[in-house]
This record gives sequence, C-alpha cells and structure tokens, in this order.
Amino acid sequence: MSKVKKVRGFQDIYGENAKKYRYISDVARKIFENYNFEEIILPYVEDISLFKRSVGEATDIVQKEMYVFTDRGGREIALRPEGTASTVRAYIEEKMYAQSSIKKLFYEGAMFRYERPQAGRYRQFHQIGAEIFGVSSPLADAELIKMVSDILNTLEIPTRLEINTLGNFEDRKNYIKALKEFLEERKQHLCETCNIRIETNPLRVLDCKVETCKDITKEAPLITEFLSDESLERYERIKEYLKALNVEFIENPCLVRGLDYYTHTVFEFITDKIGAQGTVAAGGRYDKLVEQLGGPPTPALGFAAGIERLMLLLEKLPEDRPLIVVIPITEEHNIEGILTADLLRSNKFRTELIMKEGSLKSKMKLANKLGASYVVFVSDKCELKDMTTGAQEVFENIEDLIEVLKVRL
Ligand code: ATP
Ligand code: MG
Repeated sequence: MSKVKKVRGFQDIYGENAKKYRYISDVARKIFENYNFEEIILPYVEDISLFKRSVGEATDIVQKEMYVFTDRGGREIALRPEGTASTVRAYIEEKMYAQSSIKKLFYEGAMFRYERPQAGRYRQFHQIGAEIFGVSSPLADAELIKMVSDILNTLEIPTRLEINTLGNFEDRKNYIKALKEFLEERKQHLCETCNIRIETNPLRVLDCKVETCKDITKEAPLITEFLSDESLERYERIKEYLKALNVEFIENPCLVRGLDYYTHTVFEFITDKIGAQGTVAAGGRYDKLVEQLGGPPTPALGFAAGIERLMLLLEKLPEDRPLIVVIPITEEHNIEGILTADLLRSNKFRTELIMKEGSLKSKMKLANKLGASYVVFVSDKCELKDMTTGAQEVFENIEDLIEVLKVRL
C-alpha cells in the first residue's frame, strides 16, 4: 500500500526536536511572565481583510504567501500568517483599551505561509511573540528589545541585534519620495517584483533578497537623512537605554522589515548560521496600526521569534529528569508493580512500568534501552538497582525505598 505523506512544507516535531520546542517555549513564557505580560490564545483563522489592512496589500505575505479559502458560509478566510494583526484585532474587538491604559500580551502558536520550504523556512512554523499597547515612551522599545535579548541569552543562542528607525509618518513619506526617485532611475537593473514594488511600496525594495537588488540598494538614500528632530531624539533615547542595559546593537539604516505597519523603531536579531534564514526574532513599533484597524489611536509595539529557527540554533537542552523503571519479576506481581509505579509517580518521580511479558533478562534490556537511572524490582519485597554503579539494595516496603530515592535524586 502506498503511504500518505505529510504536506510539503509541514513538519512533524517529535523526539529531541519536540523537547527543544517545549524548552524554548517554556523559557520565553517565564521571561514574559517576569516582564508581566499576559497570554492571549488567538484563532488560527481570520477574515482575510484583517491581513490586507494590517500586514499590507503590497507585501509578499498578502500577495503570495497566504493560505486562503472560502468557508461553507461563503466567508473569505485566511490561515494566520503572523500574530500581530490578530492581537490588534482582539485588542480592539474585546475593548482591552477600556480595561487599562497599558496592555501587554504574548502569544505562541502555528503560523502559515506558502513559501519555498528550506532549512529554517516552512509553510507551517511557530512563533512566540509579544505586543505592548498604550505606551509611546521609548522606554517600552528598550524594554521589549531587552526582553527578546533575555530570551536569546537564556537559550544561549548568540545573535547580533540590528536596529533602525523609520521615523514618523511624515519622515517616512519624505524618505519614500526620495527613495522612489532613486529606484526609478535604476529600474532596469531591479528584479521584476521590485519593479512593481517601486509603485506599490518602494520601502520593500530595501527588503528584497535578490543579490542584484541588494547591490543597488546599498547606494540608496538613507532614512537617517530624512528624520525629524523629534524622531532622531526618540531614536537616541532608545540607544541610550540599550547601552545602559548592556544590550549590544548595530545600527543598520537599511533595515525596514517585511511588513507595512512599522513606524519608528524596527529591530532584528540575526545569526549567520542558517543561511538566508538568518533572522530569528524581529519586531518594531506600529503606532498607527490600532487606529488603522478601527480602534482608538494607540501607540504600540511588538516582536515575534520563529521557534523552528531557534530550534536549529539551540545547542544545549536541560537534562531529562532521572528515570525510574519498575519491573514486576513475574506476572503474579503485576498488581504490586502497577501500585509501586503509581506511588513513585505520586511522589513526583519520572517512572516507567515495564508492561511487557517475558524473561527478567528481556525486561532489563528494555530498562537499559529506556535509559533508566534506577530499576525497582517488585516481588514479595522491593529491590532497588542503581544503574550507574550496579549496586543493589533490598527493602521490606516501598515507602522505605522511596525515602532513599528522595535523598539520592
Ligand atoms: P524572512 O525575512 O526570513 O522571510 P520575515 O520578515 O518574513 O522573515 P516575520 O514576519 O518578521 O519574518 O516573522 C518573525 C520571525 O518568524 C522571523 O524572524 C522568523 O524567525 C520566523 N519566520 C518567518 N517566516 C518563517 C517561515 N516561513 N518558516 C520559519 N520561520 C519563519
Ligand atoms: Mg518572509
């Protein structure tokens, strides 16, 4: 019979990889909690208009990467390609702005983009991200960046942090005008997509991954020359705070990010270890987005990190807890076996009960394979075997054995 295969670009995450996924998620969640963020669990699908109006009509995500379908009620629906749009939608729809002037949310989960699959780039991938609503102070930008840096440092994943500012809407408008003129003059050397981008969204040309386009944009005018005093001042503050926090960064005036909604601060944490898929975490400020989606004017900012990319870079996993394997000597001792395992587990020991029938030798073989630290043989008495030293001790009752284990583990 032919086998059914998983869909291209989708992955089974299991074994060591599942451990990595969970570890990364746990570390991030702890740190979110330290910074007093609350979790939001978002829907996997949204009305397609949400992404058109937030991520932007002219972006790669909306133009060619979204999974879109019509449901049985005739609604045009998209599998979420990212988490910010949904978080903002929820913030507005659930009137969170009425609860408090500042709201800090984090999310975790699968995102879907129809991209060309390669290492670190999949069609279903997972992000952890966070958003801050209601703070315009540059302190928030610095705190958010420091929080991401805390996560990466805890995971011991080395990256470089690149930052930039896109200024306010006025600065951006002036810059885009100058950039457009520059690009128009070099039109014939730019890729097909960039030729369209010149009209629809020239900033995106700076984000193009085609080498020839990258070469041309090296000479392009820089946003820095178009920033108002106010925007510059804001940017200076953030850099000052980051320095005070000992967060190292590189200023990259070409950094624009692939989504439409950013203003002022943008940042990326980058590695050179996974080819073109080098950005592991990215974010920025989006002061106009809440309003743009029908909410009250609310300054906001956020970031997202790709869990699969972090998994590729994660080298150290915390060790598994020691495993206790319970072996009933014969079938007559199955009841004592299952009760012993039960008691060990209620005492918080990681415990496996050998349920296969057969010789003691074959059961020991399995215990070895499972990586047991200790084996408990159950018959009329209990016997504890230390698998590292080979030492064996006999106990009259299981309670005494558990007391000994508690001291050792
Ligand atoms: P890239 O430039 O690599 O396409 P992006 O700018 O599209 O990234 P964002 O939308 O900012 O990425 O998403 C934030 C993070 O999510 C990325 O930095 C990356 O770690 C991860 N990510 C994005 N797309 C994918 C994907 N297709 N597969 C795996 N991870 C992804
Ligand atoms: Mg992308």
